[in-house]
Amino acid sequence: MFSVPCPARLAPSRLLRGLPHRLALLVCLLVVAGAAHAAWFKDEAAIMGTRVAVELWHEDPAAARAAMDAVLTEMRRIDAAMSPLRTDSELARLNREAARHPVEVSAELYDLIARAQRFSRLSDGAFDITFASVGHLYDFRRGIAPDAAQIAAALPGIDYHQVILEDGHRIRFARPEVVVDLGGIAKGHAVDRAIALLQARGIREALVSAGGDSRILGDHHGRPWTIGIRDPYREKGSAVVLPLSNTALSTSGDYERFFMRDGVRFHHILSPRTGRPVHGTRSVTILGPDATTTDALSTTVFVLGAEAGLALIESLPGIEAVLIDDQGRLHFTRGLAPPTTP
Ligand code: ADP
Ligand code: MG
Repeated sequence: MFSVPCPARLAPSRLLRGLPHRLALLVCLLVVAGAAHAAWFKDEAAIMGTRVAVELWHEDPAAARAAMDAVLTEMRRIDAAMSPLRTDSELARLNREAARHPVEVSAELYDLIARAQRFSRLSDGAFDITFASVGHLYDFRRGIAPDAAQIAAALPGIDYHQVILEDGHRIRFARPEVVVDLGGIAKGHAVDRAIALLQARGIREALVSAGGDSRILGDHHGRPWTIGIRDPYREKGSAVVLPLSNTALSTSGDYERFFMRDGVRFHHILSPRTGRPVHGTRSVTILGPDATTTDALSTTVFVLGAEAGLALIESLPGIEAVLIDDQGRLHFTRGLAPPTTP
């Protein structure tokens, strides 16, 4: 995913129509003075194993700075709680202890796992945070994959029914093999939290992204943002360009984290049924109202493939999808596809 901002516009003249001449001049000066520093502000940082970026429109550079700092601090807080890599994260403690006894977790983690479970039920297990029971045996950076015996031993741990949510924000695992990882949903959640923080500060135009998960608040000063979906068949360039405002969007691709062995691409989106990377799809982009939803659904549709995946999205109001398959074909949901001539 990449974004190309459109040029800004200011239209004070509309404000002035119908005002007495002197008053109009005063208002005009105030508008110009007030807008003197209004600009797009941008910052980015490496958080959650990816690039986090925030862009926002503000009149006050100090307030813009404070808002961007608040977003990055929030992203770091979520990473500290939900990272599967940090041994001191809340998620790591859950994974260590929940097969032995129910673990009380924060309302935030409990609610996100509950949302993940709903996507599992919706997709009949294509989306499953317990994929990690096998998934943690892969190391895509070092080119390590489990062998057939290791997969067979760990596979009983992939089953979202084994994650049991109890009252009092307590979670337990019904089997000792279960390992949970929120890599398919946590970045979307972090983007939604960031947008909520910006809204609470009165900001009405912004774009926040964490890797392939983004959300646009408002538009780009009167125009839509121009968002490109990366072409998985080329190093650079986009396969599709969409004008977008007020939406969340997430892309899952097989080119994000992978290694090649004997001509086979080992990448980070696994079939919960086999514990192996899913083939047939190269990239899925989902558009929807919030980034938690689009993040989970981009992973879900990647696993389901073009036919079942797009059928699922067609059944969900307000959600659209673009899928690029391993034959280089583009698939769209009906809300995005260009009208066909009879
Ligand atoms: P990213 O933004 O990290 O590229 P995606 O939204 O494309 O993430 O989802 C891929 C991530 O989701 C993987 O890195 C892994 O953490 C997690 N994942 C992989 N397979 C599944 C699955 N079947 N169900 C849920 N999560 C998965
Ligand atoms: Mg996703």
